[in-house]
Amino acid sequence: MNSNDTDTDTNDLPIAFIRGFVFCSEHGSEFCSKCMMDQRLNNNQNIMGALKKAFPDKKGDFADRPPIATAFSICTRSKTHKSPMFGDFLFECNPHKVPECPACFDWEKIVISQMKLVYSSKNPNAIPVVLSRDDKLGLLASMGVDLPPKTRLPDLDLERRLEKGIDKAQGFEKLIGEGHGNRKAYDPSRLSKWPSSKSLLNGMTTSSLAEALHNAAKGSREPELYKNPFTDTRQSLMGLGNAWDHKPRMSCHIFEDKEEEHGICMRVVDVFMLPNDIPLIVVLYLRGLRSYPPTCSIKWVQDLQETKEIFGMPKIHATEAEQNLLLTILERNSERLSPDYRPKRRSNEKDFTLSFLLPLAPLSQQNIMELSTITGCGMCGDETTSRCSGCLAVEYCGTICQKADWKTHKSMCNSLKSGKNLHLVTMNHRSKPSVDNATITSSLDPAATGTASSTAIPSNIYGSKPFLIKIQRQVTPPGMNVNNLKNNPNSTMMIYDEQRTANFWLINGDDKEAFGTALEETKTGPRGLKVYRWAKRVGDLELSVCIDKGPVRDPQW
Ligand SMILES: [Zn+2]
Ligand SMILES: [Zn+2]
Ligand SMILES: [Zn+2]
Ligand SMILES: [Zn+2]
Repeated sequence: MNSNDTDTDTNDLPIAFIRGFVFCSEHGSEFCSKCMMDQRLNNNQNIMGALKKAFPDKKGDFADRPPIATAFSICTRSKTHKSPMFGDFLFECNPHKVPECPACFDWEKIVISQMKLVYSSKNPNAIPVVLSRDDKLGLLASMGVDLPPKTRLPDLDLERRLEKGIDKAQGFEKLIGEGHGNRKAYDPSRLSKWPSSKSLLNGMTTSSLAEALHNAAKGSREPELYKNPFTDTRQSLMGLGNAWDHKPRMSCHIFEDKEEEHGICMRVVDVFMLPNDIPLIVVLYLRGLRSYPPTCSIKWVQDLQETKEIFGMPKIHATEAEQNLLLTILERNSERLSPDYRPKRRSNEKDFTLSFLLPLAPLSQQNIMELSTITGCGMCGDETTSRCSGCLAVEYCGTICQKADWKTHKSMCNSLKSGKNLHLVTMNHRSKPSVDNATITSSLDPAATGTASSTAIPSNIYGSKPFLIKIQRQVTPPGMNVNNLKNNPNSTMMIYDEQRTANFWLINGDDKEAFGTALEETKTGPRGLKVYRWAKRVGDLELSVCIDKGPVRDPQW
């Protein structure tokens, strides 16, 4: 983000000159809401002829064109070449290391291609969300859908999984249904309004047993913020509910990350009620970036300040990843609204996009299983032709995928091929885990609570493939130690995977020897309480655990 360290003596100017264009010196942006500058009009003077020629139908000075966001992404300040005019160091392009490179700093070409892209889009004022593969994988992982980080699954496949995950999390099919959910056909105004006497915060609050267990095990009910975009988005949605319940009502929000690079302006327009008292929040929103806040978003914020609505405008801190998820949901739901549904807009919201939000619930184990399954090659889904000769546990379509997976697979492979296997028969006593003190509210998806509470057999999303588990012993009360646990037939240990798709309970009395071995291992782990190990499911309640060797570095969950 930041440019290379520059020699402050020669660079006091808050601006950077690069081949005739001016940018903020901190970020390399033509427009910068942090550095408070907009150089577009100024820079346009250099290319006005070309702009007029490229866009003969457009009038004016093109001062509102999309600005060049980060010139610094293609160049570095030179350590040797000084500008003869200003005496500061010039910028060299990264590809050729040429100061003032005419090929790389072809602003005319860059600006015109950006303008063409924006002017040809549906809503020229909306900045589209473009997610990279890593972004998509990260969002899926935050919902519990763990795919190999270097997976070669096609882009479209990843996109489908993300869309499906989002729809399952908002319970879309169940709540609104396929019939109404057709593209551009849904009109929420036919629903009854959310009664003002009813708490929207409660309506937006969802939870599942798995989640409650997780929080209970962590010893806290408060989820950690800004680590998991899915959890964060759910918190923010509750925040919208809370603000709506507030007297006086707060309906305007600004989402912004800590670096103030990404933002969303949002106004809750109306709230409706779906069956089972599930709220549907209609919003108008607009995305902005530090280097490109649409003009109307600036106006919107100014107007709020003037009308004193600013007091009712909590700024919601939201990481870039959370905003990506939120925008993906909003774009998806926006496509579903009927053009006949046109709630009243304020004059400064002309360019805002209309959409709606539903409460988000954690995915059920069933959903997670479906969305994480890769049949065939573990990397790309193709038919398998080879098997890792080290551990014989994973199969691939060929050497390309096997090589791509090696960095991830290595640690597991080494453990599996040389470790000692311990056969564990687990018990799932409903009475053992003390989850009763954790808040469990209804989930949108009965499967999310159903599977975990009504059957003692944990789901199996891994099939016969090895997966990482955590073995955690009980915390001993003061004056007691591990030996007391060993001697008590009622001692338990908890075993689960990162996404908690499967929780197992090990009871000392069932198999003292195996319990003892696993208990000894926990001494070697973090705080002598837990260890991470590779395991394979060998029965409904049976695991084969590679007990004496785990990952090189302990994961943090
Ligand atoms: Zn700046
Ligand atoms: Zn160059
Ligand atoms: Zn493959
Ligand atoms: Zn292997």
